[in-house]
Amino acid sequence: MSDKMTEDEFEAAFAAATELSEYFREIGPDCDVKNKFPKQSIAKFKKSGLVALNVPKEYGGLGADILQTSKIISELSRGDSAITLAYNMHFIMVGMCMGLFSEAQNKEWLGRVADGDIVFGPFSEQRAGFSGLADMTAVPQPEGGWRLYGKKVWGTLSEAANIVTTNATITDADGNLPDTFEERVEQESFFVAEFKVDAKGQGDGVRIERTWDALGMHATGTHTIHFEGFYVPEDGFVCSWRGGAFGVLEWASLMFASIYLGMQYRVLEEARAVLSKKTLGATFGAIAAAETKVANVGHIIDGIGDMASRVELSRRVVHRTCQELVDGYDDNWPVELRFPYIGLAKTFTAENVMYMTKRAMSLVGGSSFRRGAIFERLYRDSAASMFQPLNADQSCTYIGEQLLAPEELSD
Ligand SMILES: Cc1cc2nc3c(=O)[nH]c(=O)nc-3n(C[C@H](O)[C@H](O)[C@H](O)COP(=O)(O)OP(=O)(O)OC[C@H]3O[C@@H](n4cnc5c(N)ncnc54)[C@H](O)[C@@H]3O)c2cc1C
Repeated sequence: MSDKMTEDEFEAAFAAATELSEYFREIGPDCDVKNKFPKQSIAKFKKSGLVALNVPKEYGGLGADILQTSKIISELSRGDSAITLAYNMHFIMVGMCMGLFSEAQNKEWLGRVADGDIVFGPFSEQRAGFSGLADMTAVPQPEGGWRLYGKKVWGTLSEAANIVTTNATITDADGNLPDTFEERVEQESFFVAEFKVDAKGQGDGVRIERTWDALGMHATGTHTIHFEGFYVPEDGFVCSWRGGAFGVLEWASLMFASIYLGMQYRVLEEARAVLSKKTLGATFGAIAAAETKVANVGHIIDGIGDMASRVELSRRVVHRTCQELVDGYDDNWPVELRFPYIGLAKTFTAENVMYMTKRAMSLVGGSSFRRGAIFERLYRDSAASMFQPLNADQSCTYIGEQLLAPEELSD
């Protein structure tokens, strides 16, 4: 990125994020209950100017680097993690795309984002999520370009987006997928196109089916997207998907880490607010006393200290990882380990946030379990952190495989 965001510019963007975060906090509970993406937030998001946050300045954006973007996402997530997770897909795709687009595509698509357009990225399919090679097909057209056929079952932010980025496997003229695994990898491609649907989610060759029904993260509106002959012109081809995307996936894993860091801030804030005030009156149990103030109970003091330590450690891990990327330190890692090593920040934050939401409920007590309590929602929402790529199991497998490979051992 040539022209960086200055400290003053960052402070102004952060102040806009704080304001937006407060708004997300206000509307979040209703979105959770009604299981819907808050369409009324789109205008506020655009007005905040943050839509252009990580678009480089040369294309009209604010020019935030990955650390500045991370801090702003955590600030938004502190208000409401589910709404922020929706808009996070926009920041992820802008970050990934600017490293993959041609110069002409940067000018066209990032320029449009700088003017207020929103991007989403449905990639995961039903058979196998993010790591499954695309069953969605891109059938070459006689007039040039492709028509896409298939469905993506994780379409976060579709209800706000004007631009779609997705992956599909290029077929022969009759729509047949390549025969061999190697050819499928080679033909799996990354596309960008205009995304236009009506109020019912119907577009030309594309439609949103409102299927989102999950344990948590209700406000993300992660629906199913059907591609039914959706036309992508020739200049909508970006690059080979696996070869390209895996070099820029830090924008995915570190932005997810930032979401769960923001959620950790919130868990600590809410737990402190309750536990610093709560009084049990006369108790008979571990403590038998005429008056028990929970802020004086040993395991509660330790619990808050433990949670605060985890927040601080997660903050250091996420910010330090972002800073190392900004400084180019990742060049020191074997190329095969770059992505899983960067991803450790996400898996670490995910483990911490899930631990903290459970611990907070246990410390606050049974009232936290009632529907509508902030703690039960944070508990449900934090479970989503297990799934976004790479998950903890796959990261360990990936790292272990590389370290046990004969060529690594002889190195
Ligand atoms: C709230 C939310 C919003 C989301 N939004 C989006 C979105 O906007 N766009 C999008 O594309 N996706 C999105 N996702 C999808 C998500 O990122 C995953 O792709 C999805 O959860 C499915 O992938 P999976 O690996 O969890 O499951 P599966 O692929 O079904 O995996 C099943 C099991 O196999 C393991 N596994 C999978 N692949 C491999 C492999 N190659 N090697 C070894 N083990 C493997 C997994 O670890 C898991 O244990 C979202 C998820 C959530 C929770």
